[in-house]
Amino acid sequence: GGAAGELPRGSAVACSTTETLVTSRLRVIYNNKIFSQTLSSPSHQVDFWRHPTRPGHPVDLRVPFHSLQAVKIFLESNRISYSIMIEDVQELLDEEKRNMMKSRRMERSTSTFDFSSYHTLDEIYNWMDTLVDDHPSLVSKIQIGQSYENRPLYVLKFSTGGSKRPAIWLDTGIHSREWITQATGIWTANKVTTCPGNYGRDPSVTAILDSMDIFFEIVTNPDGFAFTHSSNRMWRKTRSINAGSSCVGVDPNRNWDAGFGGSGSSSNPCSETYHGPYAHSEREVKAIVDFIRSHGNVKSVISIHSYSQMLMFPYGYKTAPAPDHQELNELAKKAVSDLAAVYGTKYTYGSIVDTIYKADGTTIDWAYDNGVKYSFTFELRDTGRYGFLLPSTQIIPTATETWPALLNIMAYVLEHPY
Ligand SMILES: [Zn+2]
Repeated sequence: GGAAGELPRGSAVACSTTETLVTSRLRVIYNNKIFSQTLSSPSHQVDFWRHPTRPGHPVDLRVPFHSLQAVKIFLESNRISYSIMIEDVQELLDEEKRNMMKSRRMERSTSTFDFSSYHTLDEIYNWMDTLVDDHPSLVSKIQIGQSYENRPLYVLKFSTGGSKRPAIWLDTGIHSREWITQATGIWTANKVTTCPGNYGRDPSVTAILDSMDIFFEIVTNPDGFAFTHSSNRMWRKTRSINAGSSCVGVDPNRNWDAGFGGSGSSSNPCSETYHGPYAHSEREVKAIVDFIRSHGNVKSVISIHSYSQMLMFPYGYKTAPAPDHQELNELAKKAVSDLAAVYGTKYTYGSIVDTIYKADGTTIDWAYDNGVKYSFTFELRDTGRYGFLLPSTQIIPTATETWPALLNIMAYVLEHPY
């Protein structure tokens, strides 16, 4: 909660569990497999922010201070050039914390929610209740399950009536460290209820919600998210304990039953892309699977990540084009051009496997294989300058430009019933 944040700096009990991340972040240009294997060796404790894709494409690494020299020597002796993107990650973390505290004080004195700030889990859950209280005829909150650590898994339902209307599923924050995604989710949910983008005023939003429901899970991995605030800002996975390993967590975007366990994921519980002991082992994943299956009328699944500025569709687990490849590609092309029209932010688009790399067990491949034709995944800002530590000043611009792309997809789904 907020209590720890209010303690004066230097207080003996403040943040005693928080790891200090005295690390740098490097960008190198991928050259071959040996390179990624060497850097992935556990002794370096390198954290891949952007994984190797193909030769000539950038790779972003966070390197702990103790292995910085070794990594630099390795790169230099192999003539692999690199640049330092962030000299001291901890400095950015400190700044992020200061900004959050500043906006929290402002929020308390003005009783308003600051959409241009990052928030804790409690703050987000409280805000959800306020949203529902303020717009009871449009928004309700449902609980689809509990996390591994027994936190409620909440979904906001936007609906103007009917039962089991065709639905759009949106999720943000399945990877907990991707803070821009939950923040974009909050702004977006608010947008649907607030003048002038809201239901009843904006013609697209009105048409969509006159016939369809929107289900929006903003904090899809609450355990991981709470952990990014309490202990390790860079936490990506769930927080489940792995039998026989001291490493915690499963990558919830490798845990779905779609090409589960293939080479585009890891069987090592210590890996950031560990697929878990079996498909849907993670409660956070299973809850969505059960919800979408029992709903039975979900027509679009949009799962939002960061970073890299990409809009992708199936498949990730195989190279064969999806049966609807052409249509999804056209739709993605239009969505990213609407996005770019706002501030000129450029996105690449295509199937997951063509755009980044083979990824097994992902949300949207599962959705697609289970009959949800319009399945997309976003990678929001940026392309690597700040990566997961995107300054909060970019929350509103990011959400603002993403909105027309989302709206484009949702309107298309409305106009193309199946
Ligand atoms: Zn992600």
